[in-house]
Amino acid sequence: MKYIDEYRDPVAVRELIQAVSTTAQRIGGEPLRFMEVCGTHTMAIFRFGLRQILPGNVELISGPGCPVCVTAMAEVDRIVELSRREGVLVATFGDMLRVPGREISLAQAKAQGGRVEVVYSTLEALELARKNKEAQVVFMGVGFETTAPTVAAALFQAAGEGISNFSVLSCHKLLPPALEALLSGGKAKVHGFLMPGHVSTMIGAGAYEPLAREHKVPCVVTGFEPRDILSGILMLLRERAAHSHRVLIQYSRGVSWEGNTRAMGLLERVFQPRDSLWRGLGRIPDSGLALRPEFQGFDAERVFDLQPVPETEAQDPPGCRCGEVLQGLITPPQCGLFGRRCDPQNPVGPCMVSSEGTCAAYYKYN
Ligand code: SF4
Repeated sequence: MKYIDEYRDPVAVRELIQAVSTTAQRIGGEPLRFMEVCGTHTMAIFRFGLRQILPGNVELISGPGCPVCVTAMAEVDRIVELSRREGVLVATFGDMLRVPGREISLAQAKAQGGRVEVVYSTLEALELARKNKEAQVVFMGVGFETTAPTVAAALFQAAGEGISNFSVLSCHKLLPPALEALLSGGKAKVHGFLMPGHVSTMIGAGAYEPLAREHKVPCVVTGFEPRDILSGILMLLRERAAHSHRVLIQYSRGVSWEGNTRAMGLLERVFQPRDSLWRGLGRIPDSGLALRPEFQGFDAERVFDLQPVPETEAQDPPGCRCGEVLQGLITPPQCGLFGRRCDPQNPVGPCMVSSEGTCAAYYKYN
């Protein structure tokens, strides 16, 4: 298949593995820890068995790039509370259904009589509002810079049509401030980043330059096929070998330096940055998106007069170490519940719920 087969070509992959090994050997010294930020990368790395073929001094660790996993428990609590209100219909992506809040998940709220519908896009949520005029439809806006522009577009459409029973609870998050917080926190040891292809399509590779410069850490925006990922790792190794910390684009068929300026322009017309609470990382300045005052009629926080998200995140469920997994501080098997009390059928934390969660990836492929 075009655009797939050439990126899985076994000869090219073997050559890359050889180049990675030779370069890693030449660098020697302490093990190099490269963080794949994005959940889709995590899944692809497991699916193609790439961790196992890397040389001993190259370690891949997973980062905070699964939007479902980093949604704070307090944010889940707010949407659960809304689903219990008379006349409210909550629309959400399926991955959010089973993410635990402090007491219950949206799936449990639905079982207890709450009106909760799974949708595949914001436009589908808007359609629910058109069809259920008696209800106030609240869409749970989750995701990074990749999904927020689609929500912005839907809100322009809602405004254009004069739809008055539709609102968004914005839990959107911005990736660069989270990576900055991760490195500034000083706990996570990262020698290079494999940056996400999807988010970078929107924000552009240039968005990582302050991070690379400030922390002297190379960043490579990488695609999702084996050749992409191995090439990304090789580029990071070469940067390390040259004592360089540039931002490079491996995934040039999808990502530019500037990104999708049109989509980002749309996002900026609807949203403005605000502090946001992340699971595992706590409150990070300017790392979330709030609706601008011009769109307050579609802002679920204002429409339903919601309490602000607390300053600090509640503890993970007892024994769950998702917070540490999301910072690359531990691997899932180091959590005492992994595979015992926590598996994809009975997830305790969000990293096992999401199809892109690190714990789910380890469980499925390890
Ligand atoms: Fe949380 Fe389960 Fe992962 Fe442990 S294995 S960190 S309980 S999601």
